[in-house]
Amino acid sequence: MLEFDHIARIRARCTTRSDVLLGIGDDAALLQVPANTQLVVATDTLNAGVHFPEATSPADIGWKALAVNLSDLAAMGATPAWCTLSLSMPEADAAWVDAFLDGFLELADAHRVALVGGDTTRGPLSVCVTAHGFVEAGSALLRSGARVGDEIWTSGTLGDAAGALVQLQAGSAVDPALRERLDRPTPRVALGRALRGIAGACIDISDGLLADLGHVCSASGLGAEIELAALPASAALRSAFDEESRRSLQATGGDDYELCFTAPETMRSDVERAAREAGVEVARVGRIVAGTGVVARRENGEPWTPPRRGYAHFA
Ligand code: ADP
Ligand code: MG
Repeated sequence: MLEFDHIARIRARCTTRSDVLLGIGDDAALLQVPANTQLVVATDTLNAGVHFPEATSPADIGWKALAVNLSDLAAMGATPAWCTLSLSMPEADAAWVDAFLDGFLELADAHRVALVGGDTTRGPLSVCVTAHGFVEAGSALLRSGARVGDEIWTSGTLGDAAGALVQLQAGSAVDPALRERLDRPTPRVALGRALRGIAGACIDISDGLLADLGHVCSASGLGAEIELAALPASAALRSAFDEESRRSLQATGGDDYELCFTAPETMRSDVERAAREAGVEVARVGRIVAGTGVVARRENGEPWTPPRRGYAHFA
């Protein structure tokens, strides 16, 4: 099977949109950006063994490769529109590509995202996706928008994906609910959109809450205090781990793809309304303070030091 056959198979399965003037098939895509909107562009690569366990199914790899990019668009408050897919594979395996597309296109179709181009090469398994979305000019949510006194919120539950990874690496049985969160993260696109005009700063949690909130703090020139006991936990995580391990997964585990955002206390009911509209739970987990860095506290006010602070490549 040649590169061109793969591309033809991919093209045959893609749904398009009216703003795609030229999709797969020419030297480049030709896309119509709506008037008065800004284009929001995010790229993320998934490498086998680093960003997903080697044994992950091709459909789950496809889903996750797009999900992590839609999560970045969500964190900007953008509406996803288009994506490109750069696929490096060790063999020309049509069944693998078909299964990969099952997961990828399921999520793309759910968000009306058109696959408009890409690249197909031979090499170690690696998937690079670029996602494009729109925001009305000036309305993007930035990391730099936090203010002293703002409340810090997170969506969904934290630590589930990291919990699955711990179980997997220990060779023990992996809880299916946790595994689902590792393999099929849910990008919080509707929530990100609903938070425009409400949230000051926003980021998606990919490397662990403390690490990612640290980016908000540096970009905003401020510090943050987190209440460990307020971090949302799923029933599956609670039953699988003791309290101390669970808290460290919630505070520092990677791969959550939840949103962490800030808003003034006076906007509390607006945040809650936005979350209801988006159909996502949100929890108030801390406050932005003067200073630098993130401090997590136990119920008794004592600072808590995590065993590790989130995933870093080249560390
Ligand atoms: P070129 O040599 O000009 O880069 P390619 O043969 O790589 O052309 O690509 C031909 C067309 O197929 C282009 O429109 C490209 O965007 C698209 N394409 C290639 N690989 C993929 C892929 N994995 N997913 C989607 N579109 C792809
Ligand atoms: Mg090419």
